[in-house]
Amino acid sequence: MRALILGALVAASTWLVLRSLRPASGKTGQGAGKDGPGAKVPLVQDPVCHTYIPKDTAVVLRHGGTEHYFCSDRCAEAFRDSG
Ligand SMILES: [Zn+2]
Repeated sequence: MRALILGALVAASTWLVLRSLRPASGKTGQGAGKDGPGAKVPLVQDPVCHTYIPKDTAVVLRHGGTEHYFCSDRCAEAFRDSG
């Protein structure tokens, strides 16, 4: 009697295992692309070293009514000294 019950349990558990092994659906988990932080900040070019820097972190120098953007104070000073 016990052997029959055990047999039934084994058969049931085997059936459950086989059932769970089947692929449920064709889902593919692909992560969505992330935008980097500050991706929308416009880039400005340093006229001295020609590096592109984000406008919000650039050093601004007003010269003759025009704003010039630099990567550092050093480049701003070099631009001012040159003319
Ligand atoms: Zn520079």
